[in-house]
Amino acid sequence: MKNLWTPWRMEHVLGKAPKPTGCLFEPEGSCHFNKEALLLYRDRQVVVLMNRYPYSNGHLLVAPVRHLASITELTDKESMALMTMIKDATAIVEKQLRPDGMNIGCNIGSIAGAGIADHLHFHIVPRWQGDHNFICVVADIRTIPEHIDATFDRLLPDFLDLYHKRQTRKNA
Ligand SMILES: [Zn+2]
Repeated sequence: MKNLWTPWRMEHVLGKAPKPTGCLFEPEGSCHFNKEALLLYRDRQVVVLMNRYPYSNGHLLVAPVRHLASITELTDKESMALMTMIKDATAIVEKQLRPDGMNIGCNIGSIAGAGIADHLHFHIVPRWQGDHNFICVVADIRTIPEHIDATFDRLLPDFLDLYHKRQTRKNA
């Protein structure tokens, strides 16, 4: 197993599960976090969700709030907000989960492996030495929910901090 960068495999799992109504990247309401939706962060430009079918522990999805399919449709403001969030989310994952490395990337179009092709999103996938064994672990779907809950609780305080810092800065 040399090629481990295949998070879309897990999106295939999502494709087979009963589809939630509406777009995954547009959780209902206007809350800036919501555990049920695995929403860690939302402001006017970007959302951060945990992948319900992760490739590794702490697999995050960063997307623009606006429903668009391709990176070429982003405004400059959205591009900046997305990249800043990818950087900040990576810092939080590094601090809380201490991975040995990370895969950060984006699949555009179903042919490129995007499970949800109509709403652009970036994957942040923490990696650990020897984590290819993880695929065997996640094959047992029943073990995942607790895992995700615990990781959500661990990451949320830092995302709340980030949210409040940014709001304060904006109002200053
Ligand atoms: Zn959408």
